[in-house]
Amino acid sequence: MQFHLDATFTLSTDLSSLKKEIQSFAHSLPATLFKKQEGTTLSFTIANVHNNSFTLSIASEGAFRPHNALLQIKNAFSREFGKTHHIGVRDITITRYEMTFDLEKKPLKKVTIPFGTVTITGKQATLSLSNVDEEFLRRNYIDRMISRIKEKVENQYYEGKAEFWKSIWESKEKKSVWSKDPTEEMVKKGWLQQGPTKGKWFYRPQAAAILKAMEQIAINEVLAPLGFQEIIESHIVPFDIWLKTGHMEGMPAEFYYVAEPKTRDAKSWEHFVDLTKITKEIPADELQKNLSTPTAGICYAQCPVIYWSFKGKTIAESSLPVLVYDKTAISNRYESGGRHGIERVDEFHRVEPVYIGTREQLLDLRDKLLDRYKYVFNKIFDLEWRMAWVTPWYMQQAGKLGDESTQDTGTIDFEAYMPYRGNRKDSEWLEFQNLSILGDKYIGAFNIKAQKSKLWSGCSGIGLERWATAFLAQKGLDQKSWPSTFKKYLSALPKGIEFL
Ligand code: ATP
Ligand code: ZN
Ligand code: MG
Repeated sequence: MQFHLDATFTLSTDLSSLKKEIQSFAHSLPATLFKKQEGTTLSFTIANVHNNSFTLSIASEGAFRPHNALLQIKNAFSREFGKTHHIGVRDITITRYEMTFDLEKKPLKKVTIPFGTVTITGKQATLSLSNVDEEFLRRNYIDRMISRIKEKVENQYYEGKAEFWKSIWESKEKKSVWSKDPTEEMVKKGWLQQGPTKGKWFYRPQAAAILKAMEQIAINEVLAPLGFQEIIESHIVPFDIWLKTGHMEGMPAEFYYVAEPKTRDAKSWEHFVDLTKITKEIPADELQKNLSTPTAGICYAQCPVIYWSFKGKTIAESSLPVLVYDKTAISNRYESGGRHGIERVDEFHRVEPVYIGTREQLLDLRDKLLDRYKYVFNKIFDLEWRMAWVTPWYMQQAGKLGDESTQDTGTIDFEAYMPYRGNRKDSEWLEFQNLSILGDKYIGAFNIKAQKSKLWSGCSGIGLERWATAFLAQKGLDQKSWPSTFKKYLSALPKGIEFL
C-alpha cells in the first residue's frame, strides 16, 4: 500500500522561531516512534511553518498506515514542545490524503464510498480524502473505509449467486394427498383471511388451531424434552443491539421501523387531532412533525435480544449449556415482492431456541435437536423433507463461519417438498426452519463469559407458518388424511364462524 498524507497541525502559540527544532523533531520521528518494518519506506517532512501552524507530510509504502500514527505524533509533539516551550497542539486536520492499495479482483462496476472518492485502475484502488478531522481519525473510519471498498468489490462477484447448498439428509419420497396451495384453499374455506396490510394474515379459529398445534409440538416434542426454559423478550429492538449482531448493516431494507412520539403532551398533538376530526383523514405532514426518528425496529428474529440479555454477564458453569427459547415476540420482515401465502409473509410467528455452551456441549446438543426434529417431521408429520448444509456467501468468503471441513459452525436448512409448486426435482422446496451453530460470533459481540469455559452459541428458527404450510401442502386440509400422530395434537378443528 502507498500513502501520501498532508496534515495541518494548529498550535496554541506562535512557533515560527522554532523552525529548526521542529525539523529535527520530524527527522527523529521514524526512529523514535516507529520501528522500521521490513519492506516499508517512510518519510516525514515538515513545511509551511509559520505563526501557529505547520504542515506535516507523510509518505509511506508498505503495511504502515500513516493515519494511525497521527495521534501518536500529536502526543509526541506535545510531550517535546509542551515541556520546553509550552506549546500544545490545538488540532490536526488532514488536508489531503491519498491511499493506493491492491484489490483481489478487478471491480465489475463503479465503486463509491462516503467521505471520500475512489478511483480504480485494474486491481489498484486509490482512495482520496480531504479535510479529515481528529474525531474521524480517532473513530477509525479510514481503516473501515478501506475494508469497505475491498468488500464492495468482492460482493460484486457474489451478487445474485445462490448461497452454498449441500444436501446432507433426505427422507423417503412420500405420497402427497393433493397438490393445491394450502393458503388459497384455507382462504376459500374461511379459515384464513388476508390481513389489513401487506403480508399479514388474520387466522380464524381453524387456522389458529393449526398454528397453535405446531407450537405445542415444537415445545412438547423438541424443546421441553431437551430442557429448554421459556423466556419472554421485548418485541422492539433498539438499533444498538442490531449494530452488535450485524443485522443493521445486513438487512436494513427488511426491517419494520418503530417511531416514538416526540411527546405525549396533548398540546403538541392538538393540531393533529383538529385536522383528523375535521378532515377524517390522517394529516401525514402533521404526524411526521410529532414523531421521532426511529431508534428501534420490530423483532426480526428473537435471538439478538436474547444475546443482549446476557450482555457482559458471567454465566455459572452449573448453568451451562444455557437453553432458552422465546415464543412471544412476533417477527416482522419487509418481504416486498417475495410475499406468498402464509409461507412468506411480513409478520410471522416463530419459536426460537437459543443455546450457549462449550463447543462440545453445542455439538452434542445439535445431534439431540436433530434427533427430536427428525422425530417430529418423520413420525408426527410424516413429511417428505431434507436437510442441507448452507453457508451464506458473505460468510463463506469472509471465512467467518461455516467451516466446511469440520462443519462445526454453520447452518442447516430444513426443506419440505411442496407438491403445489411442481415436481420434486425442479420445484423450489420450502425452507421451513433452520439450525445454526455460530461459534463465538455473538458471544464476543455481547461480551458473554463463563467462569472457566470458552463459549459458543447458536439458535434455531422454528417458523410456525412454515411448519403449517409444509404439512398442509403434503397432507391436505381434510383431517381424515392427517397422520394419527398429528391428530393427537389436533383431534378436531374448531367449528369456526359462518358468514352470510
Ligand atoms: P428465507 O431464505 O426463506 O427468506 P431466511 O434465511 O430469511 O429465510 P431465517 O432468517 O434464517 O430465514 O429465519 C429462520 C426461519 O424463520 C425460517 O426457516 C422460516 O421458518 C422463518 N421465516 C423467515 N422468513 C419468513 C417469512 N417471511 N415468512 C414466514 N416465515 C419466515
Ligand atoms: Zn437466531
Ligand atoms: Mg429471508
